[in-house]
Amino acid sequence: MTGTPSPQAAEEGRAEAVRDIVLVGGGHAHVHVLKAFGSRPDPRIRVTLVTKDLDTPYSGMLPGLVAGLYRRDEVYIDLEKLCAATGTRLVHATATGLDRAARRLLLADGATLPYDVVSLDVGITPALDRIAGAAEHGITVKPIGRFLEKFDALLGRLYETGGPRRIVGIGGGAGGVELILSLRHRLLRDAPANGVTPDAFTFALVTGSAILPTHNDRVQQAFRKTFAEQGVRLVENARVREVRADAVITADGEELPADAVLVTTHAAAPGWLRNTRLDLDEKGFVMVGPTLQSLGDTTVFAAGDCAALVETPREKAGVYAVRAGPPLARNLRHVALGESPRPWHPQKRHLALISTGGKHAIASRGWLYAQGDWVWTVKECNDRRWMRKYKDL
Ligand SMILES: Cc1cc2nc3c(=O)[nH]c(=O)nc-3n(C[C@H](O)[C@H](O)[C@H](O)COP(=O)(O)OP(=O)(O)OC[C@H]3O[C@@H](n4cnc5c(N)ncnc54)[C@H](O)[C@@H]3O)c2cc1C
Repeated sequence: MTGTPSPQAAEEGRAEAVRDIVLVGGGHAHVHVLKAFGSRPDPRIRVTLVTKDLDTPYSGMLPGLVAGLYRRDEVYIDLEKLCAATGTRLVHATATGLDRAARRLLLADGATLPYDVVSLDVGITPALDRIAGAAEHGITVKPIGRFLEKFDALLGRLYETGGPRRIVGIGGGAGGVELILSLRHRLLRDAPANGVTPDAFTFALVTGSAILPTHNDRVQQAFRKTFAEQGVRLVENARVREVRADAVITADGEELPADAVLVTTHAAAPGWLRNTRLDLDEKGFVMVGPTLQSLGDTTVFAAGDCAALVETPREKAGVYAVRAGPPLARNLRHVALGESPRPWHPQKRHLALISTGGKHAIASRGWLYAQGDWVWTVKECNDRRWMRKYKDL
């Protein structure tokens, strides 16, 4: 807890009483924190956002972008604009560690940034070491910003003579399922106008478990049917051993011809979190308690995919990063001002609205299952409402 005045304040020529909250990463939880402090500023607190990307994509709308249903600017939050509108100091830099004794954030260019309270919402990175060739030949979905650059490059090649035609996805979670179906929707829609017959493309998804393993049977069955109807080959319970330039090889030795491979599996914690010397779980994620404070250091918070909620473990999903925003903002304010933080109890289940490629989606929550165009409309309304909060400034 920051009970004593900041030693960094005097050094920087600030009023002694001003506390520095440094937010690392412009993820789903932190955009809420920016808005919360912007709408209720406190002269005793200065908020700084350190981010390596100046715009941040909203994961819920990503499949719609891939499907060609949304423009890029509809799916991204402009962090420069958000910081300007909320009176937040913006530092465009990549964090590489923490010097917790000196309460400084370490940056890739060698600079350091003082903090009284620091919060990490930096997402995950792909862990490709378990699939030979995946880093070389695969298109990884995380981090999302990098994925879209690679996806744009792929789109540029898809309609060329001799361009990629056999598309394979690896990973049967919601992200992987939505991506392959969305890409198929896009290609079948745009291929004729680009002089390519839609039949030229083939699609497959390989998943190490059953499809959508955390969802109920009816949802799984509905997606199996969707894949069959759309002519996307589904290979379940097959671990991928290797990705080659022209094929995906499973552990059983099956070879799936592939010109383009989308990898949405094996997410890992960012490696630099080890440089924080915080208590990390066995996968390298920052262990936090119910107040979102790290277990070993109450001046460090973590939220979203990079955090491991020790008492209430939840799957890595944007919805939990979004939900963490309000309690995180509240507790950062409390702790910066020397007050007691309050616990957060994330809900056990969440409503997942998973698109089937076009403007159709399947709803899943516990045993609940529903599907229809209306589900997609509900999803779109929710997503757009959330985005408006950070775009209509
Ligand atoms: C295709 C796809 C679809 C998905 N759809 C859904 C969905 O519909 N619903 C759902 O709940 N979840 C969905 N997910 C999961 C969702 O993407 C993640 O759970 C969510 O993005 C996590 O948010 P976050 O705030 O933890 O991190 P992110 O959104 O990844 O944000 C991390 C931020 O930190 C910044 N950053 C990273 N490292 C550093 C550093 N060292 N220094 C400074 N800044 C840094 C990045 O630039 C980025 O802005 C989907 C995932 C995929 C792949």
